[in-house]
Amino acid sequence: MKMKDIKSWNLKELGEFLLSLGEKPFRAKQIYHWLHRKHVRTFDEMTDISNKLKEKLKETCELTALQQIQVQCSRQDGTRKYLFALSDGNMVESVLMRYKHGNSVCISSQVGCRMGCRFCASTLDGLVRSLAPGEMLDQVYRIQEEIGERVSHVVVMGTGEPLDNYDNFLKFVNLLSDEHGLHISQRNITVSTCGIVPKIRRLAEEKLQITLALSLHASSQEKRLQLMPVAKKYGIQEVIEACSYYFAKTGRRITFEYSLVGGVNDKSEDAALLAGLIRGLNCHVNLIPVNPIKERDYVQSHPQEVLNFKNQLEKYGINVTIRREMGRDIDGACGQLRKRFIER
Ligand code: SAH
Repeated sequence: MKMKDIKSWNLKELGEFLLSLGEKPFRAKQIYHWLHRKHVRTFDEMTDISNKLKEKLKETCELTALQQIQVQCSRQDGTRKYLFALSDGNMVESVLMRYKHGNSVCISSQVGCRMGCRFCASTLDGLVRSLAPGEMLDQVYRIQEEIGERVSHVVVMGTGEPLDNYDNFLKFVNLLSDEHGLHISQRNITVSTCGIVPKIRRLAEEKLQITLALSLHASSQEKRLQLMPVAKKYGIQEVIEACSYYFAKTGRRITFEYSLVGGVNDKSEDAALLAGLIRGLNCHVNLIPVNPIKERDYVQSHPQEVLNFKNQLEKYGINVTIRREMGRDIDGACGQLRKRFIER
């Protein structure tokens, strides 16, 4: 019999399962509390649950609890990068960033990735598998436990394409923002996607308040194709229209992520084209100096080029920030920590 993934269930599903075991409905809230508020690692820690029920749970359910393999701490800015092992031995990485507005955790949504973006380390070895909702949640829980402080913001910007793991991602958001769990405001949850158009449109219909970050990285279809294979399937214009639709449905301002790659997409004409592309959209542009990975020869733009790019976008009336690079001293770029660990 396949073990049930108890941490990925919402309160209703947990209640139905307990009912099938002949248990009273109020047990669901107790157990849910242990899982999503107390973040226990074993059924034995559930002190107000009878031994008989604990045994039944152990026989039927798997309790996801990630093992911390490694943590790297940045001396520059307090960023902490974690490597966690899943129960099948696969590994994922997550990052804690400390901001004035609170603690933000960046989680992975898959082991590896199949999107193939040229500058990204997470995708070099392809996709191994998608994460279950409980495995995404537990990255946040374990980090909160480790630092002994509340996590207030979550970004799904680690390894993986969250919209390529749509159903599990959606469950994760609902569990994370659930009032009986960590209860993180949906407005403090951001999902980053390379631009899977039908899934963006579907997400727009879910009536969530999460922020959509779109990895644009180019000002034209031609340039986007050079960096992101997903552009073959969904053209840049279609992607922008899907973002526009997301804003129309949710009222949430779109974030465009734009990694500046030296000599590739950082010229004045790129800024002008970009401004034209997103004109009229309620959005914000996040400029990220590309984080070079050793497997590719992309280089960062000169700091002056980055500033020029920003100034030019501002002239067109676009909200823009240059993302502060955090944790550069600790394999900050997506997928680097896991990859180096496996290589060793
Ligand atoms: N698959 C999702 C989320 C994961 S990547 C997505 O594509 O959005 C999170 C962000 O980091 C994306 O914008 C991605 O394009 C960017 N990124 C990945 N590798 C990078 C690198 N080496 N330098 C700068 N940005 C990078």
